[in-house]
Amino acid sequence: MASADYTSHGAIAVITLDHAPVNALCLELRSGIAAGLERAWAAPEVRAIVITGAGAGTFCGGADVSEFGSPQMTAAPDLRELCTLLERSPKPVIAALNGTALGGGLELAMACHYRIALASASLGLPEVKLGLLPGAGGTQRLPRLIAPDRALSMIVSGNPVAARDLAPSALLDLVVEEGVLGAALEFAARFAPAQDAIAKDTLHARDTLKKARDRTVSLQNAEAFFDFARGAIAPLARHYPAPSKCIDAVEAAVLKPFEEGMALERALFGQLLISDESRALRHVFFATRAASKVPGISAETPVRNIRSVGIVGAGTMGGGIAMAFANAGLEVTVLDATQAALDKGLGVVRRNYESTLKKGRLSQAEFERRIGAIRGSVSYEDIAAADLAIEAVFEDLEVKRTVFERLDAVMKPRAILASNTSTLDLNRIAGFTRRPEDVVGLHFFSPANVTRLLEIVRGARTAPDVLATSLALAKQIKKIGVVSGVCDGFIGNRMLNAFFREMQLLLDVGALPQQIDRALEAFGFAMGPFRVSDLAGNDIGWAIRKRHYAEHPEQVFSRVPDRLCELGRFGQKTQAGWYDYKPGDRTAIPSDVVTNMILEESARLGLTRRAVSDEEIVERALYSLINEGARVLEEGIALRASDIDVVYIAGYGFPDFRGGPMFYADTVGLPNVLRSMRRFAQGYRGDTWAPAPLLTKLAAENRGFARWERPS
Ligand code: NAD
Repeated sequence: MASADYTSHGAIAVITLDHAPVNALCLELRSGIAAGLERAWAAPEVRAIVITGAGAGTFCGGADVSEFGSPQMTAAPDLRELCTLLERSPKPVIAALNGTALGGGLELAMACHYRIALASASLGLPEVKLGLLPGAGGTQRLPRLIAPDRALSMIVSGNPVAARDLAPSALLDLVVEEGVLGAALEFAARFAPAQDAIAKDTLHARDTLKKARDRTVSLQNAEAFFDFARGAIAPLARHYPAPSKCIDAVEAAVLKPFEEGMALERALFGQLLISDESRALRHVFFATRAASKVPGISAETPVRNIRSVGIVGAGTMGGGIAMAFANAGLEVTVLDATQAALDKGLGVVRRNYESTLKKGRLSQAEFERRIGAIRGSVSYEDIAAADLAIEAVFEDLEVKRTVFERLDAVMKPRAILASNTSTLDLNRIAGFTRRPEDVVGLHFFSPANVTRLLEIVRGARTAPDVLATSLALAKQIKKIGVVSGVCDGFIGNRMLNAFFREMQLLLDVGALPQQIDRALEAFGFAMGPFRVSDLAGNDIGWAIRKRHYAEHPEQVFSRVPDRLCELGRFGQKTQAGWYDYKPGDRTAIPSDVVTNMILEESARLGLTRRAVSDEEIVERALYSLINEGARVLEEGIALRASDIDVVYIAGYGFPDFRGGPMFYADTVGLPNVLRSMRRFAQGYRGDTWAPAPLLTKLAAENRGFARWERPS
């Protein structure tokens, strides 16, 4: 329920925005504000109006994004009309910014005549992050209220700034450390003169009201400044159209009259709203929020208290996981089998923190706190009292068995026992304990202190409160938790396996690693698959393939990646992989050794190499992900298609402006995807292209993945 509560404080009317959790400006709230204004105008005793937000910490989070694309978004009063109404108010309107004012919330405040803010309040125009620009006058009013270069930086970056850092400026008339509503009422009292003065001064306010639109804006060397700004965002402009349109709009604020700037802003907003990029970014926004909604888990599901964490294995993952928890303020004990392995692992953690400290991205005090929060041990007794234990030892079921039997023996009752396994059967791991209901997969991604994805693997017996605790924990350590069922590789690595296999088979027919990487990086991937493999270590995939050869002899793979590993070319760590590397340099240099090896393999197979277009590379890459994604969805491994998109964007460098593989599939159209797949099925190793039943079914019905729900 949304409402704009109206209360009278003598000659001052207060309108309070109330729409939990962030007072988003839905139609109901906008109508309520307009009604409140009319009531205040009609009341002769009211001399000034204060607008503030209900609840602590938020004035207004902005437009109601769930209204985007619906008739409610444009229904009167829309946000622009509301801003005009505020600006034209005959009685002064004062925004009391009691907390965060973002997007439409800040635009609303800028249309008021005065603004009083809490010093700590975050103010920003983050629309660019959804591929948009501020569409209710933000691009025209902010440059008139703060220096235009500062305004441009806020609008193009979308990053908020604390109110205290924006004062003094015409944006904020007063900044207070506390009691913002009281300060606003006091400020408003100046417009409520004693009774005898009212008669001769009824229009006092109207004459002196400060309107952002009336302010002149000046910027020296404007042309050079905007040229520079355009140059700075040029590398991004191909995939992200919004920043350059933000620049166009702010330039108009500087060079053109207010109304002309408003007209341009409106036109640009309309173009961006229907752009593929903005649609994709908005999808990602909603998908990320939806991921934490899990059937059977609700706000009422109890969660276990997690204050201390034990981590078994001080290697690449154990160290990164320890940092993720320490960064979020939890106490961590890291355990390894030997003192030497422990010292090595903790040494890496320390060096990581030292490098952040040196770069000035960490204060000395915070550095010491984080280092102090991570202790080392070689004895299980030291982690027995932890609320959560996370295993991150070698990817070997027998090693996992020893660790889980030990954890089962020592950990306190109701401690959560988690595994960071990438591919092994979580149900078998849970079976090594007498408490499988306490076991869950917490699959972090390297580097675990940085990568935002956390796959939460729900075993057959994982208790609901363990799952609910894992979801809450993900938020606490600033990760995006996505629930996966149990299968080989879970959501992400299972799909990645299909994708890598397809890219490696392309080497046999005619492509080279550098061409494939280039094509996929141009599509928007952070890194192509061969550069990724060199970074992660080609031996990891080799070990997984060896297991696949044994468990699934029917599966088809190229021999090239195995031959690469037989040469000891494990990637950056051996200074040779799919590419060559110079000592101390991560630049990937195309390798003659690898090219010759690939040509030899094609000859051995009796294949005449053919030209492979970049377009074919992208189709094969994406459709292999999508086909496996369809299986993951149909089998219930992923709860919904959008969860798969979140996994790929938050964990695998998939471009956010493409919305994730399943969203992309819907954009291309499933019948088109299927048509290409049938063509690939006619070619070399076409048996890898058997379409997933769900894909065939949805394509036949001309539907997409987005709204598909598993029959219950
Ligand atoms: P790693 O080889 O870097 O580290 C493993 C650590 O475990 C070593 O320090 C080793 O001494 C220790 N260890 C081995 N047996 C032990 C035992 N019985 N008791 C205590 N400590 C023991 O490995 P990693 O890359 O950190 O991977 C660990 C786990 O995380 C694996 O299951 C792996 O599949 C998974 N994982 C790895 C990545 C990655 O990119 N490296 C990503 C996600 C998940």
